[in-house]
Amino acid sequence: MTSDAAFPYEFDNAVCAACGGRCCRGAGGYVWVSREELEAMAAMRGMNAGLFAKQYARRTQGKISLQERVISGEHFCCFFDRAARRCLIYECRPAQCRSFPFWERFKTDQQELLRECPGVRLTGPQADRLDGRATAGAFCKSVSLSLSGRSEKT
Ligand code: SF4
Repeated sequence: MTSDAAFPYEFDNAVCAACGGRCCRGAGGYVWVSREELEAMAAMRGMNAGLFAKQYARRTQGKISLQERVISGEHFCCFFDRAARRCLIYECRPAQCRSFPFWERFKTDQQELLRECPGVRLTGPQADRLDGRATAGAFCKSVSLSLSGRSEKT
């Protein structure tokens, strides 16, 4: 379990293997990357940074985001391997992905997060009241995590 004293929940990344990458697909959104991250990803892929950017990144809102691939109406991060259900650049994934689910916007409202991430468990006095999964014994709702969920750093 991973926790952060500033957040009222904890995260079990052991659940990721069975989740199917909900935090890497869904509705359209952004995976922000810094230039340094982009260069590191390019190096990992054995590519020139310029070519890498052209193939996998896009510039929007004055920043750089990874591209998406839209398949059957669902948006996938361009580095999400749908067959293996995993990130192809996991060791080099951007800070936005590394810091999930400890994002500023989830500090005060965890309802969306609870619907989307089966690895999250509320802690403290609010746990029984808010986490329907804990009280009802249900696992999680079948709402896929939207890429827009990762756009908190706009
Ligand atoms: S970079 Fe990897 S972890 Fe981040 S959204 Fe893309 S596939 Fe998922």
